[in-house]
Amino acid sequence: MTEISRRKFVGLSASVLAASRVPSFAQAAAADQRPVGFAAVGLGTISGIFTRACSTSQTAKITGLVTGHPDTKGKQFAERCNVPDSSVYTYETFDHIRDNKEIEAVYIGLPNSMHCEYTIRAAQAGKHVLCEKPMAISSAECKRMIDACKSANVKLMIAYRIHYDPVHLQAQELIRSGAIGQIEAFEGGYGFNAGPNQWRLNRKLAGGGALVDVGIYPMNEARWLTGEEPVSFTAIPTTRDRTSGRFAEVEQTLDFTIKFPSGIVGTFGCSYGADMPGFLRIHGDRGSLQLSPAFDYTGAHLTSIGGRQRIDVPPQGESGFQFKLEAEHFANCVRTNTDPKTPGEEGLKDLVALEAIYKAAGTPMA
Ligand code: NAD
Repeated sequence: MTEISRRKFVGLSASVLAASRVPSFAQAAAADQRPVGFAAVGLGTISGIFTRACSTSQTAKITGLVTGHPDTKGKQFAERCNVPDSSVYTYETFDHIRDNKEIEAVYIGLPNSMHCEYTIRAAQAGKHVLCEKPMAISSAECKRMIDACKSANVKLMIAYRIHYDPVHLQAQELIRSGAIGQIEAFEGGYGFNAGPNQWRLNRKLAGGGALVDVGIYPMNEARWLTGEEPVSFTAIPTTRDRTSGRFAEVEQTLDFTIKFPSGIVGTFGCSYGADMPGFLRIHGDRGSLQLSPAFDYTGAHLTSIGGRQRIDVPPQGESGFQFKLEAEHFANCVRTNTDPKTPGEEGLKDLVALEAIYKAAGTPMA
């Protein structure tokens, strides 16, 4: 039995990380060495995390803010991020970012239904776009976003932070090297107990329930690791809480399967009712890998289950902080004029699959 543990991981992950950053920011020939300036659009939870991640980066920096509350949240963020008042915009003045040379890109941390509009407006203002997942609330919107960014010659990346996590990259590397043989199946899930009165429970703003928010994680990773697009789908939506009113518009829980052309099947669950830590199991014909926890912002832990190799890739602490890694990847793409690893097309493929899953559930997306 061989063992892949902490010491070996350090070497392996260095090569995985190096590969994910080529060409490195520093190597970017005579490229501009200034950090890329981002405007954070929508100052909620995720923008709070993203702006903090940028505050420790040498290559990504917050240079603008867009908010409906410039005098409260806008001021707090501006102070913390060292952004001048003149670079704090509202949704009404958003298009003026066109004239701000310090803003080269936007980070869109708005409710899902607003991603399309603000991506297109940012592209038209000549700014690169890093947009949160899910990319939008329909595949048609995704196509419009991709077209707008292409026409404006700006980059579009979807913030699939997992693709930048060293432990998940290590899982990908191990699978490619044959550590578990041929993939046969995936199992996974993710969920949390969603509190009342939030946009996530509003179909118009969210596009769907637990599936678009958290079910997307194991599904996206199965697509990523197989390199295939699912072709058949089953789904069972369940809403057990009929009394609080939280789930009048979106599903509480959804269990679903996706089948890839090769015959690999993924069986997943997601929930806004269960407080369910994210996990992913990848079953191969020579063993299985487990990511648990899988989808938190840091702390992914990869282990083998059975099989010939004993694998234990421990959590990576601060160096595995996905928001910083994804921001720096996008900054590098902007500076070196290279394509992001998770472009708009990746977000579109997820939306196509999400639409098919809701169709199978008998609850089509809006
Ligand atoms: P949030 O509610 O904390 O923040 C949303 C922000 O949008 C708030 O600042 C709010 O004021 C603003 N907003 C503007 N117009 C609004 C409207 N009409 N209704 C409601 N809010 C409005 O949400 P969040 O958790 O930060 O999520 C934002 C986006 O980030 C979503 O697309 C979500 O899926 C994504 N997200 C990604 C991750 C991740 O790990 N990558 C995690 C959480 C959220």
